[in-house]
Formats: sequence, structure tokens, C-alpha cells
Amino acid sequence: MPAIIAQDVHKWFDIPKKDGGKFHVLKGANLTVESGEVVVIMGPSGSGKSTFIRTFNALEPYQQGRIEIDGVELSEDLKNIETIRREVGMVFQQFNLFPHLTVLENIALAPVHVRKWGKGKAQEVAMELLDRVGILEQAKKYPGQLSGGQQQRVAIARALAMQPKIMLFDEPTSALDPEMVREVLDAMRTLADSGMTMVTVTHEVGFAREVADRIVFMDDGVVVEVATPDDFFNHPQEDRTKQFLSQIL
Ligand code: ADP
Ligand code: MG
Repeated sequence: MPAIIAQDVHKWFDIPKKDGGKFHVLKGANLTVESGEVVVIMGPSGSGKSTFIRTFNALEPYQQGRIEIDGVELSEDLKNIETIRREVGMVFQQFNLFPHLTVLENIALAPVHVRKWGKGKAQEVAMELLDRVGILEQAKKYPGQLSGGQQQRVAIARALAMQPKIMLFDEPTSALDPEMVREVLDAMRTLADSGMTMVTVTHEVGFAREVADRIVFMDDGVVVEVATPDDFFNHPQEDRTKQFLSQIL
């Protein structure tokens, strides 16, 4: 059973243009992600990458098509949405940590409230996760006392604390100073090596080449091409892909 099936997904943003129309952002996007697979989504700004992956954890509703996450149909049914939100973790460009909570408290918060774990167990798991992303010694600090790279690793640990089956990353290194990009990508690579199913929107070509099983190229609200990194970068098939690559490589 695939981890993610998205079939012919259409979405219109509810912002009426001057003529009263709606903005058609996803125009029949298709993607299947196998369990354990690492998929990187690339494509020009505004092509719908963020919107597409946000439909996978019900952050964005869609109007047409079908999405199934780990065998659960993403319908309007609130129970399904709750199940899916628990199983799909997400890391954003902006870390969105709670500034008034320590690193440890940030990570332990959701498991206590949503998973109903005792505080002791939640903190124990939080410490293990901090160790995994390489910042165990920062547990007692507040987000404002950490570098951007450290904060993003806390955000990854916080998402992992919910024990998701799938992790979504939306340009997780785009807001970081260049010298901090590597430590975050390294944490993501470790996660990929552990077998986590991952969908990552990123412009990091090195990461895409080395870590992705498949690369998905999106343009203008559709998936234009899906290929292995070698095929994608060395033998792109579609004109739009070739044009994009000529701009970024
Ligand atoms: P990408 O992540 O590929 O840059 P997005 O999914 O963020 O693209 O956006 C796709 C298009 O949808 C863009 O033209 C963007 O301006 C538009 N868009 C994104 N979010 C909204 C929103 N909340 N309301 C209206 N339009 C939006
Ligand atoms: Mg985006």
C-alpha cells in the first residue's frame, strides 16, 4: 500500500479576482509515494509545490480529485483528518517554535496533549529525539537562544515526537544562513536513512541528487515529470524541466 496517493487533485483559491473568478492553483496534480520512499519536489516559485504538499496533511482543502494517506481517504470526515494529521508530520521554512517554552517543552507538548502520554515519557522521547538531531545539550534553552539551524532541528524533533509515518518538509533550509544549511540537511539525511517516508520541497540540488529516490518536477499546478535523480538532472524528458534546470544548475 503506497504512503501517499494523490490523483488528479484540483484546488482553487477562494480569492476572487477582479472579474470574480477563482485562482486555479492545482490543475490535476498526480503523485504516488511508496512507503519508505524519499521524494523531492522541485519547481519554479508559484508552481503550487507548497499548496500540493499541504493537501497531504489536510492543511489545505482541495475541491476535486482524490488523496489517500496510508490507506485513509482524505475526505471531509473530521475523524479521517484527525488520523492523518497525527500520522503526517510537517516542517516549514519558518520554524514556528513556541518562544516561551524550552526546547524540551516544545517537543513534549503535542505528545502530552494529543497522544495523551505522561510528561515523563514525553520528555524521555523528546531527549532521544534531540540526541538524534544532534542538539541534546540545548534541551533547557529557549528557541531565541538557538541558531536558526538549531531551531530547525528542534522543529524536526518536534514533528518526529508525534511518531508520524510520513514527514513533509517545505523548503526547510530556505530561511537559514548558508552555514547552517548543512546541519539541517544532515539531520534530514539521517532520517531518510532510517526509512522514514519523506516528501521534501527544496532547491538544494546536492540533497536532491544524493538523498532522493525520485524527483518530482512541478510547474503551473501539475506534476510535469517524475524521475530518478540521475535521469532528472542528466536526462530530463520534458521541455519545461530542461528549461528549469538550465536556470538552476
Ligand atoms: P510554490 O510553493 O511552488 O512557490 P505555492 O503553492 O505557495 O507555490 O503557491 C502557488 C500559487 O498559489 C501562487 O501563485 C500563490 O501566489 C498562490 N497562493 C498561495 N497561497 C495562496 C492563498 N492562501 N490565497 C491565494 N493564493 C495563494
Ligand atoms: Mg512554497
